[in-house]
Amino acid sequence: MLRWSDILKFAKYSNPEPPRHLIQSEEAWAAQLTPAQFRIMRQKETEPPYRNAYCRSYEPGVYACVGCGSQLFDSTTKYHAISGWPSFTQPLTKNAIRYGFDDSYHLQRVEAQCNVCGSHLGHVFPDGPEPSGLRYCINSECLVQLGAADGVGSEPQA
Ligand SMILES: [Zn+2]
Repeated sequence: MLRWSDILKFAKYSNPEPPRHLIQSEEAWAAQLTPAQFRIMRQKETEPPYRNAYCRSYEPGVYACVGCGSQLFDSTTKYHAISGWPSFTQPLTKNAIRYGFDDSYHLQRVEAQCNVCGSHLGHVFPDGPEPSGLRYCINSECLVQLGAADGVGSEPQA
């Protein structure tokens, strides 16, 4: 289990090696992603709180990166953080995410990026629930949920 001290070490010294690398031009990203995804994942903008796809969704399944398909989070680590964005206590694997310090807006924050394609996902904070104490605050636009009934059964049950 990753803890805040691990996250700080990754951000300060070196990140875990990803299973693979995807590197492509910003033009290729612009062609592949929607405009909203591009602004968030490649230009580090933040989507509106609450009005996003996965904030209140607790369907079981794995969340993958929209940019490269890398599996990032599992629904079993998703919790209600009252922040307005989907929040997780752990990544799916230790090397799914890479970290860096983000001093924008004069805030000392730790940025979370997809470790395979380097796309911005959101930030990590040390105010999550025990035992990890971590809160991965992630933009819904960066995620696609896999294995959530494949569109069947997503209708409300009568
Ligand atoms: Zn990715």
